[in-house]
Amino acid sequence: MGKPTGFLEYTRREDRRRPPAERVRDWEEFHLPLPEDQRREQGGRCMNCGVPFCQTGTVYEGRAFGCPLHNLIPEWNDMVFSGNQGHALSRLLKTSSFPEFTGRVCPAPCEGACICGIYGDSVTVRDNELSIIEAAFADRRMRPRRPPQRSGKKVCVVGSGPAGLAAADQLNRRGHLVTVVERAECPGGLLMYGIPNMKLPKSVVRRRIDLMSEEGVTFVCGVDAAERAVAKRLLAEYDAVILCCGAGEPRPLGLDTAGVTGVCCGTEYLKSAVERAQLGREETAAPSAAGLDVVIVGTGDTASDCVATALRQGCRSVTQLVRRPREDYLDSAGALPLDYAHEEALAVTGQDPRRFSVQVKRLVTGENGALAGVVTTDDDTLPCQLLIAATGFSGCERAVCDAFGVERDKTVRTAPGSFATNVEKVFAAGDMRRGQSLVVWAIAEGRSAAAEVDRYLIGYTNLARPIG
Ligand SMILES: Cc1cc2nc3c(=O)[nH]c(=O)nc-3n(C[C@H](O)[C@H](O)[C@H](O)COP(=O)(O)OP(=O)(O)OC[C@H]3O[C@@H](n4cnc5c(N)ncnc54)[C@H](O)[C@@H]3O)c2cc1C
Ligand code: SF4
Repeated sequence: MGKPTGFLEYTRREDRRRPPAERVRDWEEFHLPLPEDQRREQGGRCMNCGVPFCQTGTVYEGRAFGCPLHNLIPEWNDMVFSGNQGHALSRLLKTSSFPEFTGRVCPAPCEGACICGIYGDSVTVRDNELSIIEAAFADRRMRPRRPPQRSGKKVCVVGSGPAGLAAADQLNRRGHLVTVVERAECPGGLLMYGIPNMKLPKSVVRRRIDLMSEEGVTFVCGVDAAERAVAKRLLAEYDAVILCCGAGEPRPLGLDTAGVTGVCCGTEYLKSAVERAQLGREETAAPSAAGLDVVIVGTGDTASDCVATALRQGCRSVTQLVRRPREDYLDSAGALPLDYAHEEALAVTGQDPRRFSVQVKRLVTGENGALAGVVTTDDDTLPCQLLIAATGFSGCERAVCDAFGVERDKTVRTAPGSFATNVEKVFAAGDMRRGQSLVVWAIAEGRSAAAEVDRYLIGYTNLARPIG
């Protein structure tokens, strides 16, 4: 424990964010790190509790508490306070595959479990984590670590989101030869094509992929493993295959949209925005919101990211329709929390874009089926040329499961407490097994599946298994 009285002396101070009215004019990251002396104070707020609930990731009565990766939080908070960056990094990397991702986008269930938070404000665990890893990249302490020897076993990971990357990283460290096969043009899954640049810069994703490549992981993009011939070849060539294809099957909007242009799902819209703004591509699947009246249906990260993206593209108006009542979203003080996107909408339009207890009842179309407006369940007609469905996901894609002969319900069926599927040497992890979730859970899944695959390949493992 760095400072026994730190939690009494120092108040919680989060990383700063760029002002909403400024940041909405570009796609740059909105986090601003604290100066070094203030960061150390934040590390010093940790009480090093006898039972550190923050690191004891567990599910109780259906709710997750603490870090699913079991990050050794009090240990590195202590090192943050004492300024021992090297030791902080080594303790962080013991359990965490990609702190630069979780340090930016994790909703921090660790902070929800922090004892400091019972009578005051929890420790800024996530910001402390981000400061450790970013300092290490800045000082060039994050160098490629190649395994000293190879096992001779070959593993194929299908899908390069956080689950696939974590599994590949762990198995490569154990000396297996790992190839990651990805359908998209660039690796990263939703880190690359879902979560927008202002929350998670694409340069940060590329930096990690480059490091993993230097460490010996091979990335092959533009390959669709749902093609039967591809699946057959992968099964023949590799000693084990881990399917980490996500759960991207969108939940239907429940409206007849046949022949209507101007309706798309949130992930399709966000992917197109990344392709335009970060990859410089104009021909994309979904339209830009520039100059349009946009209606977004749904809540959660995807809906917020769509609001923030539409504002940056220069929409004429943006409205978010939420099915459940406002009261369901109030915090313990009775206030309605503002996500980063809602702060930005307020700064640009002077209004919170959310309307509660309301849904779309009917679409209004103009010539050639172009969307012109939506009629809500309140019988309001809103002008709308772009309707974005951010209504969640119904499960994983069927085609890739069929190609490998893997059984699925909404997600891939695995044996209880295991990542093995019904097909010999085929495993599954991440959203594809767990259902729509969070980056930190996808990483925990990938690490756990890697431990199981390692044991399957060589009969034992010394890899940690955060789940199961
Ligand atoms: C818009 C949005 C914002 C989000 N924001 C957050 C957030 O702020 N914080 C948070 O913790 N979580 C967030 N999430 C959730 C988080 O991104 C996911 O839980 C996580 O990415 C799941 O990881 P995964 O590796 O299982 O799958 P994914 O990230 O979905 O990756 C799956 C990969 O498999 C590839 N693939 C699929 N089929 C094939 C095939 N047939 N052949 C080859 N490759 C294939 C895909 O192209 C993709 O690259 C967000 C999700 C969305 C949609
Ligand atoms: S990964 Fe998430 S839950 Fe774990 S320490 Fe970091 S912010 Fe907290």
